[in-house]
Amino acid sequence: MVDETNETTDTVNVTENGTRTKNRIARRLIGATVLFSIVVTLLTTALQLFFDYQDSKHQITTRVEQIKAGHLKSLTSSVWAFEQKLTQLQLEAILQAPEIEYLAIFIDGEKRWEAGERVSSGTLTDDLPLIHQFKGRQEAIGTLRIIAGLDRIYDYLMTKAVAILVSTGFIIFSVTGFVFLLFQHMVTRHLGVLAAYTRAIDFDTPVEPLVLDRQKNDPSKVDELDDVVNAINYMQAQLEESVEEIKLSEVRLRAILDHSPALISIKSLDGDVVLVNRNFKLLDGPMPEDYIGKNVYEVFPQDIADNIWQHDLKALKANRPIETEEDIKHRDGKLHTYWTIKFPVSIGGNEPFGVCSISTDITERKKVEDELEQHRDHLQELVEERTAELTQATNEAEKANLAKSEFLSRMSHELRTPMNSILGFGQLLEKNTREPLGETQQRFVHHILKAGDHLLELINEVLDLAKIEAGRMTISLEDVNSNALVAQSIEMVRPLADNLEIQLFHDATADAGLPDVRADYTRLKQVLVNLMTNAIKYNNSGGKVMLDCISLKTDYLRFSVSDTGKGIPESGLTDIFRPFDRLDAENSGIEGTGIGLTITKKLVELMDGEIGVESVVGQGSTFWVDIPKASKILENQPSAKAADNDLVLVPGSEVTEGTRTILYVEDNPDNLELMTQVLKEF
Ligand code: ADP
Repeated sequence: MVDETNETTDTVNVTENGTRTKNRIARRLIGATVLFSIVVTLLTTALQLFFDYQDSKHQITTRVEQIKAGHLKSLTSSVWAFEQKLTQLQLEAILQAPEIEYLAIFIDGEKRWEAGERVSSGTLTDDLPLIHQFKGRQEAIGTLRIIAGLDRIYDYLMTKAVAILVSTGFIIFSVTGFVFLLFQHMVTRHLGVLAAYTRAIDFDTPVEPLVLDRQKNDPSKVDELDDVVNAINYMQAQLEESVEEIKLSEVRLRAILDHSPALISIKSLDGDVVLVNRNFKLLDGPMPEDYIGKNVYEVFPQDIADNIWQHDLKALKANRPIETEEDIKHRDGKLHTYWTIKFPVSIGGNEPFGVCSISTDITERKKVEDELEQHRDHLQELVEERTAELTQATNEAEKANLAKSEFLSRMSHELRTPMNSILGFGQLLEKNTREPLGETQQRFVHHILKAGDHLLELINEVLDLAKIEAGRMTISLEDVNSNALVAQSIEMVRPLADNLEIQLFHDATADAGLPDVRADYTRLKQVLVNLMTNAIKYNNSGGKVMLDCISLKTDYLRFSVSDTGKGIPESGLTDIFRPFDRLDAENSGIEGTGIGLTITKKLVELMDGEIGVESVVGQGSTFWVDIPKASKILENQPSAKAADNDLVLVPGSEVTEGTRTILYVEDNPDNLELMTQVLKEF
């Protein structure tokens, strides 16, 4: 509740701009009322006087009419008879009327009688003709002039006006004085209280709701002042709530700003600092609170301020966020690099009022990046060094590999030559009918030949593998007749199958429509023979081997070799394609080198094919090979069908009966001897 003791009847208020207001409203109200009352009074008084004046004039007219009716006839007779005295007396009688001031009778324009005198400044004049009835004719014998004075009327009206004005003035002033006091008591003093209360609201100290000092018998009769008080109290409560919210939101915002690890600032369009967060205490400059209102050039050295201000202007000009790097000195004297994002700030889509900067210290990151960069460069050097070493090692390995292959190839050749001699002479001994060997000798020679065959097979396979690995295996792709290839392959393994009592199955009729394949005839035959040889070797006695050809929907022809042998465990399905991995076969007494499947796989791949195996231990295995069909290849390619190993007679050669001559070229004397012995047999 506001103290109203000072608010006496003569309320003095002070407005925001310091003007003293002494009951201005009441005074204005009273002034206006008085003015209005005076105007109204004057108007009504004037009207009333006007009507009174009219009324007085009407009385004069009425009096003239009465004279006309009552006196004019006898006066005319007196004038006709020219009775001087009587006429004068009659005029005196008429003059008794209060309105009439002067009378005169004119005959032929000449004044003959008169009564009274003209004293009024304002008069009304009326001339009445004197008409005499003589011998039935009316004859004008003269004129009666009547002059009525107006000064009396004027005096009356003046007195009346003064009386009205005085009485009305008294009423006006007493009423307005009363209204003034009443208004001051009922309204003005409360308005002063309202103003004082409203002015006292500062939102820092809580204020009690406003209650006016009014005596009201009936509290249910709420008037306009109560409305205003309620409205002010409501507004005060609302404002208090809003101010609390604003304060809270400001505290939160400030907390965010101050807890942010970045430097956050807002500058005006002139570069004056409007806001900074607490982190500015790190910088070489004033404390954060001392930045406000200072220009960027006052708080930073010229070069740094130049840089910052240029970027600020750039963001303002672009009217969008920009990113930049800024170097700012810290209080400890060290120069830090900041990654700064700057953007114009505006309120409600209006023109920007400033520019906001959010700067993150990236000094450490930059240092780490630089170090990383150095490491990366170093790493690059290391990689280059290592790559060079590896390249050198690879080159050396390739050289070594080539040397190995060269060595193997030479060795195989060197081994094959004496092997041919061993096997050749062994066969000669075995087949020599002229000097047949004894039984024991036969057995020994058989062993020599068997071991020799194995050795030769090993040498041949090692030679093939070495060639493949050295990339020197030449594959000549051509159209190959699948039927012929299959038939020849089967024939090649048939003796082995018969020997081991294995049944060979192949549905030759189903091959009738088989397409040609694009392959190296010899090498594909080698593949099929190898797979069938394995199927026979690793089979059970009395077992079966099936060779099937299926045209796949893709552009491949599938050759599959199935057996009813012991099968291969799943763990060994990939090992069998590795060189010299025979699983447990070396302990089974079955002859082999362990490189057959390795060479087979490589050959298939060289012919753009694929190889695979499925096996169930105890039931058997199926090896399949997919080879591209010939249809994929251009038709004008040479066909293997035409390249059957036919013997071609050299032109000019003569075949005669009896003696035959064979040209044999040999650098090895042992082989020469062998060939001589072989030929002797014929
Ligand atoms: P090799 O037969 O000369 O030992 P391969 O490379 O031809 O060498 O075969 C590798 C191994 O794969 C063989 O030693 C054998 O253990 C196994 N193997 C090959 N084919 C079959 C098959 N059809 N059934 C069972 N095992 C097989």
